[in-house]
Amino acid sequence: MARNKKHLVIAIDGPAGSGKSTVSKRIAKALNILYIDTGAMYRALTLKAVRKNIDLESADLLTGLAHSTRIDLKEGPAGLRVLLDGEDVSSLIRSPELTNNVKYIAKVPGVREEMVKLQRAIGERSGAVLEGRDIGTVVFPDADYKFYLDADADERARRRYEELRQAGEKVNFEDIKKDVIERDESDMKRSVGALKKASDAILVDTTDLSIDGVVEKLLAYIKK
Ligand code: C5P
Repeated sequence: MARNKKHLVIAIDGPAGSGKSTVSKRIAKALNILYIDTGAMYRALTLKAVRKNIDLESADLLTGLAHSTRIDLKEGPAGLRVLLDGEDVSSLIRSPELTNNVKYIAKVPGVREEMVKLQRAIGERSGAVLEGRDIGTVVFPDADYKFYLDADADERARRRYEELRQAGEKVNFEDIKKDVIERDESDMKRSVGALKKASDAILVDTTDLSIDGVVEKLLAYIKK
């Protein structure tokens, strides 16, 4: 069904470390619209599956879990909070161990169906900047603006490494680089909702750009 075009929807996709999160938050703030971190939703469901010791290879069990789980995104003074059945799991979902398990959940068609439904419902209510892997291709193929951010693998790994170090994680650069590359491969290869540039998305290489530079570039397209 076609979307009610009353509200502005902006899709920002790209691989890990391409700058999506920081840029999406800034764009949402500049335009005074909601920011939706769709990766956080897949991460939250992964946390629940791990806690419940669910077989990560069982598509049926994971789909059932998606149906019986409540995931909310709430804007708070410290930024976006991720609520899993009412519990704030915003920090817990960022650990490298958890991150490496998201791929099992993200490749299950039944899980994605449920997540996409939720993302569309939140986005359509008031308009939003949505960041993820399949926003421009699956969630909002008729978004008002679509961007695909990318950067060299070394630069993307460096950004992830810094992010994790600042969050107090003990990490090794080579391990992070390997994780980032493996995660992108698995995101690109899955049969549903794969990471892919929509044919009508604007490609922005962020390797040599500052955050301000990327934000300015995207806002220039949006305000044109
Ligand atoms: O964006 P973030 O790095 O937090 O995403 C974590 C993982 O969630 C991704 O590697 C991907 O497997 C999955 N994801 C997805 N579809 C989205 C957003 C994230 O499959 N729209």
